[in-house]
Amino acid sequence: MSNVGGLYQLQETEIEIESLTKTLKTCLKKLGENEKLVEARSKLISIHNRLEELKKQQQEIGWAINDISAKLKKSNDDLYSGRINNPKELVNLQQDVKTMEDKCKQLEDEELEVMAQIDTVTSEQSEQSICYKAIESEWRSEHAALIDEAKQLKTSISQLKEKRKAMAAAIDPKMLEYYNQLKANKGLAVAVIVQGMCHGCRISLSSAELQRVRAGQVVECSSCRRILYLA
Ligand SMILES: [Zn+2]
Repeated sequence: MSNVGGLYQLQETEIEIESLTKTLKTCLKKLGENEKLVEARSKLISIHNRLEELKKQQQEIGWAINDISAKLKKSNDDLYSGRINNPKELVNLQQDVKTMEDKCKQLEDEELEVMAQIDTVTSEQSEQSICYKAIESEWRSEHAALIDEAKQLKTSISQLKEKRKAMAAAIDPKMLEYYNQLKANKGLAVAVIVQGMCHGCRISLSSAELQRVRAGQVVECSSCRRILYLA
């Protein structure tokens, strides 16, 4: 392989390393992203907490109803026991019974309202749970695929770097230094000749230039100064 051919192969390998490194970066970035999953989980936790709060409310109302029912039963027992003869005391007791019955009714209504809310939130919880599981399973498979991809990319990159090292070692050090200088200035040091034109700057080459390239000489493009390579 001519010197220029070797430089061109080196350049191609460097381009491939750069491109794979970019892909690896994107892949690693994606691995760290799971906002959708975090969001779904936090929504599920918030529904769960709301449900627990409602259940606690229902329990407290239930206790209050039990408490008032016991008192009501005792007052009713007193009222119909015949032990109380004082009319004023009887009237007071009747009023107490009425108040307690009203309170009991009010608590029972509240309990029904809370139970209805529990039903609604329970359905919400099972819906969100299904949704969360779907997102989690999607994320798991995506995550596994990304880890796989990153592993493959790292292997390919290190293989290419080895290849690049061997290629660079086979090139005349002065040529390599020149190549690196051009690369630093131009991005790409070697320009392919396509249909008689320098592919680096799209300038048509003279037949003399083309002839020198064909003869295996190292020729710079007169316009962009890149090293010309005929594939
Ligand atoms: Zn050029």
